[in-house]
Amino acid sequence: MSVLTLTDQYIGGKWIPSTSTETVDVLNPATEEVIAVIPGGGAADIDAAVAAARSAARAWGASHKDYRLEFLGRLVAKLAEAQPEIVETVVAELGCPVGFATAVQAALPLGVAESYLRILADYEFEEQVGNSTVYHEPAGVVGAITPWNYPLHQIVAKVMPALAAGCVVVLKPAEDTPLTARLFARLVDEAGFPAGVFNLVTGTGLAAGAALAAHPDVDMLSFTGSTAVGRRLLELCAPRVISTSMELGGNSPLVVLPDADLDVAIAGAMAAKMRNGGEACTAANRFLVHESIANAFTDRLTEAMAAVTVAEGFADGAQLGPLINEAARDKVERLVADAVARGARVRTGGERLPGPGYFYPPTVLDRVQRGSAILAEEVFGPVAPVMTFATEDEAVELANDTEHGLVAFVCSRDLRRALALGERIETGMVGLNRGVVSDPAAPFGGTKQSGLGREGGHHGLLEFLEPKYFAFD
Ligand code: NAP
Repeated sequence: MSVLTLTDQYIGGKWIPSTSTETVDVLNPATEEVIAVIPGGGAADIDAAVAAARSAARAWGASHKDYRLEFLGRLVAKLAEAQPEIVETVVAELGCPVGFATAVQAALPLGVAESYLRILADYEFEEQVGNSTVYHEPAGVVGAITPWNYPLHQIVAKVMPALAAGCVVVLKPAEDTPLTARLFARLVDEAGFPAGVFNLVTGTGLAAGAALAAHPDVDMLSFTGSTAVGRRLLELCAPRVISTSMELGGNSPLVVLPDADLDVAIAGAMAAKMRNGGEACTAANRFLVHESIANAFTDRLTEAMAAVTVAEGFADGAQLGPLINEAARDKVERLVADAVARGARVRTGGERLPGPGYFYPPTVLDRVQRGSAILAEEVFGPVAPVMTFATEDEAVELANDTEHGLVAFVCSRDLRRALALGERIETGMVGLNRGVVSDPAAPFGGTKQSGLGREGGHHGLLEFLEPKYFAFD
C-alpha cells in the first residue's frame, strides 16, 4: 500500500511547507500499517499560523454577521458534499465501523455546523441592559486543540462557533487523526474564507500543542481532551490569564434502579458503553446496578456484548473496530488485569484479540471491587465494569466517587425517581432511560474535573464572545 507523504501546513489561506523537519506517522489501527506521514509542526509553524490569524482578526471580527454567514454557509455545503470522503478518512485513521462513521462521525458535525448557521442568523450581538449598551465582541485569536475520538466533530464544535462569533482560529488536531483535520482545512479553503481566518498546524501535543497554548498572541484556548493535559494547558495559559474552554475526561456512571425496564436498561447500557467502541468521553465507565436485578442485568449485558461483531471498519457487519493505538490497548489490558487481581470476574472478553490491529473484545466484568483502578480511570474501550448497590444513597455515593462529572445515566420505570436521583449526581448532563445524551442544541460539558465551559448550541457561541458595555447619558 502506498504511503501518503505530506509536508505542508495550512497557514494564511495557503498550503505552505512546514518549517519543521519532524514527521509523525499516521497508522491504520486495524492493520497497524502506516498510511500517511505528516509534518510534526513546532513553534515556528505555530508562530506563522498565529501571525496569519492575527492579521485576519480585525477585519473578520468587525465584519457583519451576514458576511460571515456567506462563508460559513459555503463551508456547510462543502461538508455535506464531502460526507463519503469524510467517512473513508475517519474509518482509515480511527478504525470505527463504516456505519457509525456515516451516521455519527460524518453526519453529526454536519448537523452541528448547520445549527450554527441558524444560531448566528438569530443572534443579536448588541443588547440594552439598564442604561448601558452591551456589545458581544469576539474573543480574538483562538487556539483550538482537539482529540482523535470524534476527529471532525471536535473540530467543528469549536471552529464553527468561533468563526461565527468573529474569532479567527489556529487548530492543532490530534496526531492520530490529522487526515480528517486536513480534509476539513481543504473544505475551508474551497469555501474561500479570507486568508488567515482559519489555520491548521499538525504535529504532536508536546511540540505544536504546547507552543500554541503558550503563545503570547493567542487570546483564548479551546481544548478538548484528557483532564491531565487540560491541567497542563491551564498552567500554560495562567500567566496571560486568557480565557479557556476545557472539555475534559469523563467517568460516567450508569445507574440501574430496581424498577428499571431491563430491555430499556440493556439498550441504554449498550449505547452508553459501545458508542464509538467505548472511546467516548460520555461512555458509561461504571455500571451500578441494584442488587435485586444485578444477576439478570449482567447476564443480559454479557449476552449483548458477546454478540457484537468485531472487525475492521470497512468489513461487512462490523460493529466494533480496533482501539486507536497500542497505548490505548495496553491501558485497557492494565485496567482489566487490575480489576481481576482485586476480585472481579470476567463474564465475556477480557483478552486482546489476535493482530494485526489493536482489537480488544467487548468485555463485561462483574463483582468489581472498590479501589480497582478501572473505577477511577477512563477505560476508553469496550469494557463494562459492574458493581451492585443496596440503597439509592449508596448508588449516589458510588456515582459521585470520581473526580469527573461529565455525564450520568439513570434507568427506572419511574421517571420522577430517575430525575430525583440524577439531580443528586454531580454531573453536567444526565441521560434518563437512554445511553446517549448528545443533542446539538444543548450545552455539552461537565462539572468537577470534566472541564470548564460548554460546547454546542448558543452556549457554544457564547464561549467565543466577550461582553463589553458602554454607559452614557
Ligand atoms: P489528550 O491526550 O489529552 O490529547 C488531546 C489533544 O491535546 C491532542 O491534540 C494532543 O496531541 C494534545 N496534547 C497532548 N499533550 C499535550 C501537551 N502537553 N500540550 C499541548 N497539547 C497536548 O486526549 P486524547 O487521548 O486525544 O482524547 C481522549 C481524551 O479526551 C479522553 O480523556 C476523553 O474523555 C477526552 N474527551 C473529552 C470530550 C469532552 O467533550 N469533554 C470529548 C472527547 C474526548 P497529540 O495527539 O499529539 O497527543
